[in-house]
Amino acid sequence: MKALCYYDLNNETPALSDMLAERFGGYIETEITTSGTAYFEKLGMLIAAGDSLDLYDEGQWDWNAFNDMCEKWCAQGEEYKALAGSEWPGLMFVHTTGTKAFDIKGDQFINNLKNPNIQRTMEWLQEFGKRGYTQSEWVDPNKVFLDRKVLFMAMYYEWGFTSAQQGAFQNNLDQDFAFAPIPKDPQSDKYYHSGCSVGYLVPSGAKNIQGGVQYILCSRIHATDPDVIAEYRAEKLDTSPGYYAKCPECKYNFVENNQDKLDTCPECNTARKRKYKEIYTQRLFNLIDDFKNPEKFELVYDAAFGMGDDMKAYFTRAAGNEDTLFDGPVYSGSSYTVARDEYYNVIEAMIQPFRDSLAGEQ
Ligand SMILES: [Zn+2]
Repeated sequence: MKALCYYDLNNETPALSDMLAERFGGYIETEITTSGTAYFEKLGMLIAAGDSLDLYDEGQWDWNAFNDMCEKWCAQGEEYKALAGSEWPGLMFVHTTGTKAFDIKGDQFINNLKNPNIQRTMEWLQEFGKRGYTQSEWVDPNKVFLDRKVLFMAMYYEWGFTSAQQGAFQNNLDQDFAFAPIPKDPQSDKYYHSGCSVGYLVPSGAKNIQGGVQYILCSRIHATDPDVIAEYRAEKLDTSPGYYAKCPECKYNFVENNQDKLDTCPECNTARKRKYKEIYTQRLFNLIDDFKNPEKFELVYDAAFGMGDDMKAYFTRAAGNEDTLFDGPVYSGSSYTVARDEYYNVIEAMIQPFRDSLAGEQ
């Protein structure tokens, strides 16, 4: 689908509300980020298989290193799982080959499901499913690491990483989490990674266009303004414990009395109540910067992510199917090739209207 109109906020100072009022819709690309990342509790050292972030810094974080770590982890017993996740982890690994399942180039809609890179990736991941290396049922990211049996979870880092921290806090567990890129394909020329872009659509005639405009601008400032980013990061790097503003006993307000650094109430001597807060390290912020640096990562934007739920049902386990193309091999060890050949014509038929539409727009 083509954007109805497009503003590059880096290069223009638009009267955004005028633009939205005049036209019948607005699409503004606001942020580019990675979509799939493996996040984990730092357990790799326990099995002497290294630390993913060290390996990444050394340029050694690839499928082979990942495979080695997973094999060592799972050798500890059947209940040990190397990989958990939600939908699409198979495609996240496919993207490290630099190949998209569906690509759009000009007026061409390209179906790559028979591409050898996809075949190679999925046959490798199929072994994870077959050997029982994957946590086949979905487990919420704030619970998945609690029993310390799962090594990695593949999902968007911001959600996964922070909910894991929250889960550990809620359960009074001392756990140390980090996130890493999906490991590099050792056969690739570059480090490719799944990309995701976020846009906002404000319909014309909406009651509060100005509110939409403000939201878009705030999101933009949050993502790009150096001062805002520095302040946000300083807050996330602060490892001091977070507390509720009021004393749990006498309701003395530490914040209003400028005593927020205290850990005990000056009025009644009660210990303050701890509040969960997210903690990042500088190293993880450096990695986030790397994700956005085209010298380090080439982000892969796959049209397969945006084809709607009917198509998604052939690719992921969203609909509860076990033999889907990308989730099936990972979670249940089913054959990519068998599923691909079985669904190929149906998928081609579903693509056809998009091909017709693209051809019609030229
Ligand atoms: Zn008190």
